[in-house]
Amino acid sequence: MAARPLIAGNWKMNGPKGATAELLNIIEGAGDLNPATDLLVCPPATLIAGFAALALGSRVAIGAQDCHAEAAGAFTGDLSAEMLKDAGASAVIVGHSERRRFHYETDAEIRAKALAARRAGLLAVVCVGETRAEREAGRTIAVVGGQLAGSLPNGAGSENIAPAIAVAYEPVWAIGAGLTPTAADIAEVHGFIRRELAKRYGGAAPGVRILYGGSVKPGNAGELLAVENVDGALVGGASLKAAEFLAIAAVYG
Ligand code: PEP
Repeated sequence: MAARPLIAGNWKMNGPKGATAELLNIIEGAGDLNPATDLLVCPPATLIAGFAALALGSRVAIGAQDCHAEAAGAFTGDLSAEMLKDAGASAVIVGHSERRRFHYETDAEIRAKALAARRAGLLAVVCVGETRAEREAGRTIAVVGGQLAGSLPNGAGSENIAPAIAVAYEPVWAIGAGLTPTAADIAEVHGFIRRELAKRYGGAAPGVRILYGGSVKPGNAGELLAVENVDGALVGGASLKAAEFLAIAAVYG
């Protein structure tokens, strides 16, 4: 089955004044969008419960930006996937490049988090992507391949995990930089990711959303989302403004 498009917003560590108003604008504007498009807003953890209550009954899902792999225990400052589910989240981003970079997260930890998300009944949005140096060295496919091999759940029965997973290809050098790869470059990486998913999840692979992320804006969303094997976007900066987030989602009608 082909993937339903997903437009996801990553608010990062931004819970600006007026955040609630921005969410309400997204919820209201979502009514005009193609019903076949899924919408997800991932605010800071402090806002998840409040946002989930506001979004209840709407078509906007609320997600988290990270989770711990364990369900509970002596992990000061961490939140488990079960707690996020309890708070009203239905998805969690794992392995964002900012977590890999600033929190030294490894592929193995990210895989454990993705499995924790599934255990709790959350969609795991698993992020992969190369740095500028890696791209310039011609290592993009090798790097993304290694991240997929290390961070996606696998093993016996892993095809059953496919519905609980989305992959976000986010070139590190494009995030927050106003730069994007060419459509041809994105097509190459997304095609590669699809083939890797097929090796791992077989017939379930076409249903796994592969999102592009990195400086997606209303002005470039049409071109980026039209690329083959791009099933949506993970949007950072532009997701903080309802009008921009909605304009990106409106590419799907
Ligand atoms: C992100 O951080 O996931 C992201 C895609 O950010 P931006 O859209 O601001 O580049």
